[in-house]
Amino acid sequence: MENNPEEEAKQILEKLRPGGMWEPAGLGLSYIREGATELKLVQQENTPIAAQARVRMRVLVESIGWTIDEEEVSMVDTSHLSPQEKHMHEIMLRQQSAQRWPCPKCETPLVAFPLEQAVWQFDGQQEMRLPDGEIEEVEQWCVIIECPVCDTKVPMEPYDFGLIAGDDLMTTYTNEVAKFIVMSRMEVIQKVDAKSSDVIILGTFCPFSGSLLPPHVRGTNVTWSELADKGEEE
Ligand SMILES: [Zn+2]
Repeated sequence: MENNPEEEAKQILEKLRPGGMWEPAGLGLSYIREGATELKLVQQENTPIAAQARVRMRVLVESIGWTIDEEEVSMVDTSHLSPQEKHMHEIMLRQQSAQRWPCPKCETPLVAFPLEQAVWQFDGQQEMRLPDGEIEEVEQWCVIIECPVCDTKVPMEPYDFGLIAGDDLMTTYTNEVAKFIVMSRMEVIQKVDAKSSDVIILGTFCPFSGSLLPPHVRGTNVTWSELADKGEEE
């Protein structure tokens, strides 16, 4: 597939969630989608590469009929940051932008949804082409959350859900029979020393119901508790 830069930019921007973040690789620029065809430049790394890219990106984005608001750009000096620190910084920015994602129908922020009731849904396998040309089957999952105001069901990418859900919800998983809580190393040690019987290591399937587990809890040490009322809403 050969795409020109305009086509590529257009495709990326049209797919971007309102309030979602776009960080073209290696440029040191962070944009957020503000409106139907409007971006806001929120952050620029303090480097010549980013300064030049900012001008090029503006020309590119305006050539496809979008606008960029460059009024409130925060300049960050990343030269003293280690790769890990840069990565942490990027995640923080993404989490901040995720706070603003709205319900597609009524604009209620997704973070205000009852996220603890999110449902992990397996959507089957999809073929993906790896960089070396090999084809691999990859499991497709989405997380369904429901708007408390207009009842719209919003399917999210697991990664995006992680951004709004935070660690506590990402280390808890409830299926039709049990609730699993991922343990820290200290918790595992304490449980094992105390010879607790509610400690297990999860594989691909739920050890009680046999149903498929979502990838983020596989291979983790968990404590579990049986659901009191199976199939009934709390
Ligand atoms: Zn809504």
